[in-house]
Amino acid sequence: AETCVKQKEIKKETRLGMSVKKDDDFGKWYSEVCIRGQLLSYYDVQGCYILKPSAIKVWNLIKAFFDAKIEKMGVEEHTFPLFVTPCALEKEKKHIEGFAPELAWVTKAGESELAVPLAIRPTSETIMYPHFSKEIRSYRDLPLKANQWVNVVRWEVSDPVPFIRSREFLWQEGHTAFATQAEADKEVLHILDLYSDVYEKLFAVPVIKGKKSENEKFSGGNYTTSVEAFIPSTGRGIQAATSHSLGQRFANMFDITFEDKEGHRSNVWQNSWGLSTRSIGVMVMTHGDDKGLVFPPLVAPVQVVVIPVPFIGADTKMIYEACEAVKATLHEAGFRAKEDNRDNYACGWKYSDSEQKGVPLRIEIGPRDLASNQVRMVRRDTGAKVDIPRGDLVERVRDVLGEIQRSLFDAAKTKLDNCIQVVETWDEFMEALSQKKLILAPWCDEVEVEELVKKRTKEETGGAAAKTLCAPLDQPELKDDTLCFASGKKATTWSYWGRSY
Ligand code: AMP
Repeated sequence: AETCVKQKEIKKETRLGMSVKKDDDFGKWYSEVCIRGQLLSYYDVQGCYILKPSAIKVWNLIKAFFDAKIEKMGVEEHTFPLFVTPCALEKEKKHIEGFAPELAWVTKAGESELAVPLAIRPTSETIMYPHFSKEIRSYRDLPLKANQWVNVVRWEVSDPVPFIRSREFLWQEGHTAFATQAEADKEVLHILDLYSDVYEKLFAVPVIKGKKSENEKFSGGNYTTSVEAFIPSTGRGIQAATSHSLGQRFANMFDITFEDKEGHRSNVWQNSWGLSTRSIGVMVMTHGDDKGLVFPPLVAPVQVVVIPVPFIGADTKMIYEACEAVKATLHEAGFRAKEDNRDNYACGWKYSDSEQKGVPLRIEIGPRDLASNQVRMVRRDTGAKVDIPRGDLVERVRDVLGEIQRSLFDAAKTKLDNCIQVVETWDEFMEALSQKKLILAPWCDEVEVEELVKKRTKEETGGAAAKTLCAPLDQPELKDDTLCFASGKKATTWSYWGRSY
């Protein structure tokens, strides 16, 4: 009996495989995928997480991609301090109003109270712009383009969700200043395209580019554009990244002026834009399945895992050598490949382990493969198995990784498109909301009407309120006599609506 207990304990410790299905309890499934997939660990400050090497690898891949693009635009990397003074914060009233509830303050150093408490950056407009004011004197100093990859703290009150809504998170924040509004406006959209590329090309997650409503725009900004993703399992939208036009309000408050060629002084035109580790969570939610994570190859920390399949009586040494050689060939060809030669696990366990971690492609090599000079490839996304000659290895791996990347995007895009529901009346809207749809509706674009929709959806469903996600840049035709679904007034735009993270 004692041995039985011990075995049970061992089994418990080493048990592999997800315990919750994506469709049964999405919230539990998501945190289990993140943990079992080795992306993060929980920490004893609520809303703060330990990002493990896999998550950081993904983040670094995004960073490399994005840095290469913004460097071309002339953006320079900076590092600004973590702290902000109340005096700087209060300069832009609307901005501080928006962020005040989420600020974390440092009030003591050792035992002594600080004469002036310091806030930890929730975003760095008020930290950077006094510096911009000193750096910018004439038109020759423009445009000024700064970016930093840092952590920020927002003491969110709603339930934290790993990656998606955390109290401390990693992001890049770009801050730029221009002589003209036209240059600034052009950049807002250029950055939005880059964010869309990060999601669609790297994460294989389809997004919608759009403009935020007045209620949802960045505090203190002029207008906000965003890419929005949608999670079909929960019927919730998610703001995936934002590119803000700040206009001249911050320039006015922080005295960021320049002398033009004619000797006149003017305020600069500013933008700020940010993409956070939320993106990793969106990718996990989109592609993960009941076996665990599913990484699109372009952001997979490990793209190919090579697993030896030794049989009793077979030449184990040769199998291990073949695995090592295959891994080396793949490395050489530029793939992120790994060999799983841990001798304390059976190959079945290793298969599940690599599935849980979302490795896009598994290569198995056993005695039969050795004899016929081939390897077996198994796709994570479809489970499809195919035997390929060793000589074709690099070419076939490249092809199949490309195919996985494409088909993950296509599957996610089809799902997203199937979730979109066009509505024209309040009843249709409520029906679509109950069916977890991403709702596209004609709207009068009035602040009070959005407030009313939030209030009514909360009261009438007893669940979370629905709000605008964005007005898509790609607008369907709006006929002249189209009415707002909520107010019955003349509609001025099509807008996406839904519950959101
Ligand atoms: P913002 O400058 O406030 O628009 O934030 C930039 C981006 O950061 C947003 O578009 C979100 O995708 C992301 N973000 C905002 N709050 C959080 C949070 N609490 N945790 C993770 N990411 C966040």
